[in-house]
Amino acid sequence: MSDNHLPTAELQALDAAHHMHPFTDGYELAQKGARIITKANGVWLTDSEGEEILDAMAGLWCVNIGYGREELAEVAARQMKQLPYYNTFFQTSHVPAIMLAKKLAELAPGDLNHVFFNGSGSDSNDTNLRMVRHYWALKGQPERFNVIARWNGYHGSTMGSGSLGGMRGIHAQGGLPIPGIHHIDQPDWWSEGGEMSPEDFGLQRAQELEKKILELGPETVAAFIAEPVQGAGGVIVPPETYWPEIQRIVDKYDILMIVDEVITGFGRTGNWFGCETMGITPYIMTCAKGITSGYIPLGASLVSDRIAEVINGSEFAHGYTYAGHPVACAVALENIRLLEEEGIVERAGKEIAPYLKAKWEALTDHPLVGEAKIVGLMGSIALTPDKASRAPFKAPAGSVGVICRERCFANNLVMRHVGDRMVISPPLTITKAEVDMLIERARTSLDETFERIKAEGLY
Ligand code: PMP
Repeated sequence: MSDNHLPTAELQALDAAHHMHPFTDGYELAQKGARIITKANGVWLTDSEGEEILDAMAGLWCVNIGYGREELAEVAARQMKQLPYYNTFFQTSHVPAIMLAKKLAELAPGDLNHVFFNGSGSDSNDTNLRMVRHYWALKGQPERFNVIARWNGYHGSTMGSGSLGGMRGIHAQGGLPIPGIHHIDQPDWWSEGGEMSPEDFGLQRAQELEKKILELGPETVAAFIAEPVQGAGGVIVPPETYWPEIQRIVDKYDILMIVDEVITGFGRTGNWFGCETMGITPYIMTCAKGITSGYIPLGASLVSDRIAEVINGSEFAHGYTYAGHPVACAVALENIRLLEEEGIVERAGKEIAPYLKAKWEALTDHPLVGEAKIVGLMGSIALTPDKASRAPFKAPAGSVGVICRERCFANNLVMRHVGDRMVISPPLTITKAEVDMLIERARTSLDETFERIKAEGLY
C-alpha cells in the first residue's frame, strides 16, 4: 500500500476540524496535533513522520496476534466476496457464526457452551445485564434485579456497561449509573490497603460483596460482574485471597457471576482465559478485543448451560444488526486458529511472560517505582515519591503519570498511564529482544520523568 498521504500538519488540522476523539480533551489535542499512525507490523507502529514506535499496549489491549497478519486480511476479503453480510435474527444463521460459536464453546472452560454475539465489549456487557435480569424473571424471581460491580472496574461506556463500570468520571456524564447497579470497593492494595497485609486486605475487599448482598437482600441480587484483573483501572492484580472468597460468596447466595474477559481473554494472562489463571467459575463470560486481535470489531457473551436453557426457552428481545457479522466471525476463527496452531498463547505464557516478569519487577529498583505487578503479558508499575509509605505525589493525581506517558511517547514507546500507574499489555507475539527494548525505553522514560519532576518541584 502507498505511504503517500497529506503532510502531517494538514492531517492534524483536518483531524482537529472534523474528528471528535473518544476519551480526549478535544481543545487540548487541537493545540498539540494528534500523532497519526499510518501502518504497523508485529509490535511496531509507524507514524506519518516515519517514526517507528514500540506498541506496548497492543492498540487498546487488543492486538494479541500482533499487527500485519496477511492471513486475517485474506480471510476477511474472501468472506466479503462470498457473504459480506447476513444476520442471525429471525431463524437464519450463517457458517462463520456457527463455526465460531462451536470453537468458542470448545475453548472456553466449564459449561460455557453457548454464544450470543455482539459488536463490542460494551454492548456485550449490555447484553449480559439484560440477560441475567431476564433469566431471573423467567425463573419467576423478577425481584432479582440488582447487579453488583466494583469501583474502578471498567466494562465499557454505553449506558449499561458504563453503569456497571465504576469509573466516577464516566458516571458524572450523562446520568449514570442506571437503576439497580451497586458498587463495592476494588482489591487495590497499593492505593487502598493502608496498614493491612495484602492477604487480609484481599479477604476484606471480597467480603464487601457479602455485605452488599446482605444489605440489598440476597433475593434481590441477580449477578456480580468483575474483570479477573482490572485492566483500564490500572492493571490491578488482586491479592491471592480475593478470588477464592468471591467464588465462595457468589456460590453461597446463588449469584450469577459474570467475568469480563474483554482484556484478559485470548491469552493475555498466560492462559486462554483469565478465569483459568485466577481460578474462577463464571456463568457468563464477556469477550471482545483479542477475539479478533482487534482487526475487526466483534464481541461475544459466552453463556453457561444453566442460563442458555432458560433464555432459549422463549424469545429474548435483544440483538444488534452487526452482531455475529460474518466477516468478523471469519476473522475471529482465523485469528484463533493462528493463536492455537502457532502456539502463540502457549509461548506467551510459558516463555515470554516469565522473561518479561523478571525484567518488569526489576523496575522497582528505580527511585520512582513502588510496586510492579504483572500477570501473563499485562503489567503495571505504581509511581510514588515514597515507596515505604506508598504516598501519592504532591502534584494532582495522575500528573506524574501524564509526564511519564509523554516521555515514553517521545522515546517511541506506547505505555499508558492510569493515574500515576503505568501499564503495559503488548502483543503476545513480542520477542525477548523486543521485551529488552521495551524495558530499556521504559527506564529511559522513568529517568526523564524523575529529572523533570525534580526540576518542577513535584518530588
Ligand atoms: N470490558 C473491559 C474489561 C474492557 O477493558 C473494555 C474496553 N477497554 C470493555 C469492556 C469495553 O469494550 P469496547 O471498548 O469494545 O466496547
